[in-house]
Amino acid sequence: MTLKVENIKVAYGMIEALHGVSFAVADKSVVGLIGSNGAGKTTALKAISGLLPLSGGRITLDGRDINGLAPEAIVKLGIVHVPEGRRIFPRMTVRENLDLGAFTRHRDATVERDLGWVYELFPVLKEREEQLAGTLSGGQQQMLAMGRALMSKPRLLMLDEPSMGLSPIMQDKIFDLAREINASGTTLLLVEQNARAALELATHAYVLDTGAIALDGKGSELAHDERVRKAYLGEE
Ligand code: ATP
Repeated sequence: MTLKVENIKVAYGMIEALHGVSFAVADKSVVGLIGSNGAGKTTALKAISGLLPLSGGRITLDGRDINGLAPEAIVKLGIVHVPEGRRIFPRMTVRENLDLGAFTRHRDATVERDLGWVYELFPVLKEREEQLAGTLSGGQQQMLAMGRALMSKPRLLMLDEPSMGLSPIMQDKIFDLAREINASGTTLLLVEQNARAALELATHAYVLDTGAIALDGKGSELAHDERVRKAYLGEE
């Protein structure tokens, strides 16, 4: 699986938010997309998911154009987006939320097996299977959003700000889980304001600055880059 984003432009009405952005996500890697508020990170994920149209450029999965496909078709190709703010269904139970994640799949034994795997990754979801999702803590809701996405068996899981609003301990836990999900063979595209944690996890990372890629490199290299340290890691 290789995702290529080539010179994409995305506009909200008259205002262009991405001015020709390119990056690639290699199979089994973790790619980090960092940058300050409003840089265009969420816009890039929404464009990949088919939620926003391109006004220029192309997006390919294994060489095939996916821009222009409906969001459901993109999910079927194996690209799944866990949006900022989780967007779980609060009045449905944990189990019902997870079942909805498998909506594109045939109901068969593999769905049951994957539910077992999700419960192994996130035991708290098994414990709270019958609880209404809206009553979970923020960290548990993030786990549910990730678990629901995994139920569709993605090849590429896109996580938008998974650590947002969580305590430092819960943030570490979410990043550990992301690492575990990647180790089991799922490619990750991770958007984060917590640049330090994202760079630790990322095989390769891109810095987005007001709608354009300003820098890219191995996660570990960028973590030591002076410009990144000053602008995004809060160091002098
Ligand atoms: P954040 O971390 O705040 O989500 P971001 O890097 O994800 O930041 P985007 O949400 O992609 O940034 O926003 C990129 C630019 O597009 C910003 O200037 C923002 O104001 C603008 N924008 C985002 N959504 C809309 C919208 N629905 N209508 C108009 N402009 C928008």
